[in-house]
Order: sequence, then structure tokens, then C-alpha cells
Amino acid sequence: MPYYDLSCKNCLHQFNVKATIQERSDRLIRCPECQSTELEAIYRTVNFVRRLNKDCDVCPRSGSRSSGQGFCSGGACSH
Ligand SMILES: [Zn+2]
Repeated sequence: MPYYDLSCKNCLHQFNVKATIQERSDRLIRCPECQSTELEAIYRTVNFVRRLNKDCDVCPRSGSRSSGQGFCSGGACSH
């Protein structure tokens, strides 16, 4: 079951909820603050952009590669 980062259009409350795709599309998810179903997904575009970069300046890759834990190799970077 996927997690959704949602923002309430009514009261602007932001929350994380676990729901099925069906529940999401049927608008069964409600804001825990005001019970509104007018929700919109929060897209973390910054993270997506970073994932596309070959070199990650957040991971300690240069120092850990010799120990076999190059976090950025093979597209395994989680940043
Ligand atoms: Zn709300």
C-alpha cells in the first residue's frame, strides 16, 4: 500500500497517509483536521531533480567507495 503526502486545500494541513490507489481515486481519504476530501498531492520535485544527477553531493561516496559502500553507484542514491 503506497503512502501519500497530501495537502488539504481547505485548511492547508499537510499529512502523510497510507491508502490504496482505489481509495485515493475514489476520494475516500479525508483530511484529519477538517475531514475535507479536497486534497492535493505534494510533489517533492527537489528530490526528483537530484535523483537524475549522476553525481550526488550529499552522499559520502568518495570516502566510502573503497569499503564497498558507494551509495551513488548503480543509481542507488536515495537523495
Ligand atoms: Zn483540512
